Amino acid sequence: MNKNFLLILVLVFVSFNAMAGTPVPDFRVQQVADHTYVVFGPTQTPNAENLGFMNNPGIIIGSDSVVIIDPGSSLESGRMVLRQVKKLTDKPVTHVFNSHIHGDHWLGNQAIREAYPKAKFYAHPEMIRKAKESEADSWIKLMSKLTEGATEGTRAVIPENSLADGDTFKIGGLTLRIHIMPATHSYTDAMFEIVEDSVMFTGDNVTYKRIPRFNDGTFRGTLAMTEKLISANFKHYVPGHGPTGDKKIVESFRKYVATLYGKATVYYEEGLSDFEMKDKIVAALADYQQWPGFNENVGKHISLAVLEAEKASFE
Ligand SMILES: [Zn+2]
Repeated sequence: MNKNFLLILVLVFVSFNAMAGTPVPDFRVQQVADHTYVVFGPTQTPNAENLGFMNNPGIIIGSDSVVIIDPGSSLESGRMVLRQVKKLTDKPVTHVFNSHIHGDHWLGNQAIREAYPKAKFYAHPEMIRKAKESEADSWIKLMSKLTEGATEGTRAVIPENSLADGDTFKIGGLTLRIHIMPATHSYTDAMFEIVEDSVMFTGDNVTYKRIPRFNDGTFRGTLAMTEKLISANFKHYVPGHGPTGDKKIVESFRKYVATLYGKATVYYEEGLSDFEMKDKIVAALADYQQWPGFNENVGKHISLAVLEAEKASFE
């Protein structure tokens, strides 16, 4: 072998590895209902240790095909989800549904496209628009930064099919119904009901034992959405982050939002500024102080709640 050829081989190998992400280890899969499985991600924000994987991908197995909901934060997260599918069934993945724009939920699409080029991808039309506009790129960069490069090699596979509230899909003998309300977690949220299993995938409209971001959504929209979810009384709710459960998990999350927003509104009307009300609201949220994300987010949530209360007072 001549020397130059060897050098090129070495360079190709080195640059290939520099681009590659770190494989995500297999996470626990739980069967939630007859056809529905969930791969549980850690509830910490993306970091070098969890390799960016932190959400709850769903696997729904029908008579002749598989549906995946939110295959994680990176190419390697998506590959890990597919390894879990293979342990359960040989049926092909035909449909992928994404709950919203935040990259920890959908950047794993790439792995599904890679393995199943014919699979169809669906999301809220605003999610598709924002991803194309700039958010896909910024989420890819953010994930790589937060994980110190563990998600390198991830490329955006943006869904090409738009969802609307009430859309119903018949896939492999199962019924998947789409639920959309405006202005909840991110203005791009879709939720997925597996009718035969009485399972509702809420995306980040509900999180349990994990405090979510509210930067891109509204408290009032979240309260309206969670009220609707509770009254629907599904057997199982799969939150965007944290353990699954019955409607009690939605009630628990809703109480955080109702307490925070309710108190912020009252104190705002009394003329308090956000830093003056912070200690009182934190004390009222004692039950949530152990939830990951509480300390990092509660101050910001109070500021956002005051802004929203101020806006509401002009309506
Ligand atoms: Zn989110």
